[in-house]
Amino acid sequence: MSQDLHTQTLTQLSAGLDRGDFSSVELTEALLGRIETHGQSLNAFVTVTAEQALAAAKRADEARAAGNAGVLSGLPLAHKDIFCTRDILTTCGSRMLEDFISPYDATVVRRLADAGAVVLGKTNMDEFAMGSSNETSYFGPVRNPWDLQCSPGGSSGGSAAAVAARLTPAATGTDTGGSIRQPAALTGTVGLKPTYGRVSRYGMIAFASSLDQAGVITRSSADAALLLGVMAGFDERDSTSIEHPVPDYCASLSGSLKGLRVGIVRQHFDEGLDDKCAAVVKESLQVLESQGAILSEVDLPNLDLSVPTYYVVAPAECSSNLSRFDGVRFGHRAADPEDLLDLYCRSRGEGFGEEVKRRIMTGTYVLSAGYYDAYYLKAQQVRHLIADDFHKAFAEVDVIAGPTSPTPAFRLGDKIDDPITMYLNDIYTIGANLAGLPGISTPCGFVDDLPVGLHLVGPHWGEETILRCAHNYEQASAWHEACPEEYR
Ligand code: GLN
Repeated sequence: MSQDLHTQTLTQLSAGLDRGDFSSVELTEALLGRIETHGQSLNAFVTVTAEQALAAAKRADEARAAGNAGVLSGLPLAHKDIFCTRDILTTCGSRMLEDFISPYDATVVRRLADAGAVVLGKTNMDEFAMGSSNETSYFGPVRNPWDLQCSPGGSSGGSAAAVAARLTPAATGTDTGGSIRQPAALTGTVGLKPTYGRVSRYGMIAFASSLDQAGVITRSSADAALLLGVMAGFDERDSTSIEHPVPDYCASLSGSLKGLRVGIVRQHFDEGLDDKCAAVVKESLQVLESQGAILSEVDLPNLDLSVPTYYVVAPAECSSNLSRFDGVRFGHRAADPEDLLDLYCRSRGEGFGEEVKRRIMTGTYVLSAGYYDAYYLKAQQVRHLIADDFHKAFAEVDVIAGPTSPTPAFRLGDKIDDPITMYLNDIYTIGANLAGLPGISTPCGFVDDLPVGLHLVGPHWGEETILRCAHNYEQASAWHEACPEEYR
């Protein structure tokens, strides 16, 4: 049997399983072995589900032998620890849920399992998905496989690091302001955030409900297309999931970029973007042009308001969503409370980390009677203006392209004490969340041996277009094939 199963993408592994080159049990054993070797130094996993994975792999092999293989039969992946998994710990990176075992599966988890996927474990993340560096996790920071002193980005940093280090070919993630795309950029992986409402949020622990969207981190856009096809679709259990036909995303990859109108946002290349990153991203835009895309400038005049807007809306929603963690129904409960108030205060005080508390306090403040109009209402109005800007831009172009993140991976510890600097990490990604648009980050080169991401945003339901654009780019550039030396 080949020793290099970990080097293959989902698409390649699927073909290998079909040909009978190896079994899912062999593949799962190989990846579990890699997780054992590298998992701890990267701190990418909170839970490894070896036993369940091997049992699922065995079932998948049997189904295949009986001619009943599903689309993902026997293909391994990992879940961000924000997705509820029945009988398996779901921590959300928090002490609050240190011992939480969900009685049900999230829809995303269920759909992937029904298609035959094998779950290797649950990945580390920023606490309640709040962060851009994975340093707010109760379980400690995740390390970037390209440089262990660096952050892999966040909040889906465990998923990104695990895919980048070839511990799993794919992992789920969630993106409220950039948490799939930014860690993908910082680890040289592909990160796809679909249109809001495309993928069910049922069983995905809520951070900011009007912005949260599930997606994937993979090694290629073709793999992202494969997984999205399984995850997408209406779910009656999520009132914000939209009834909209699910196209064949894999089939949509094959078209060329001839005539594709790609918009470049002028403000994206202003100050704030690292010079070397700018050069790498500009080069990637030329590749798109050489493939037949037509580049033009577009204006998003209110885009500079996206970070402040997000940091009013997201904390407001989080303060409401997280009020359920009170030590009574579920979550951490303080020992020996004196009375009910003491139980609430200490359970929440002990269960939540600093960043989560900062968000809850900000959110409570902007929603309070005297400040609602000045902050929350104003932010909602600006959110509309930003969405309108995108709407106008998409009348002229099919895709908006630019950098995913202002810098390559930064060192752990460098930004954690400066929330504002940390918040600016998502300056290029947050707009898509505020407007509910799909976005993808694909590797487009290196700066000082650290990966850089090209960010593509599409109009609502434009997943096929951004996947096709990213896929074409990957065929021409092959940056997505780069792997850190120690993990080849
Ligand atoms: N970094 C952003 C934040 O801290 C986005 C997080 C996310 O997308 N979950 O809120």
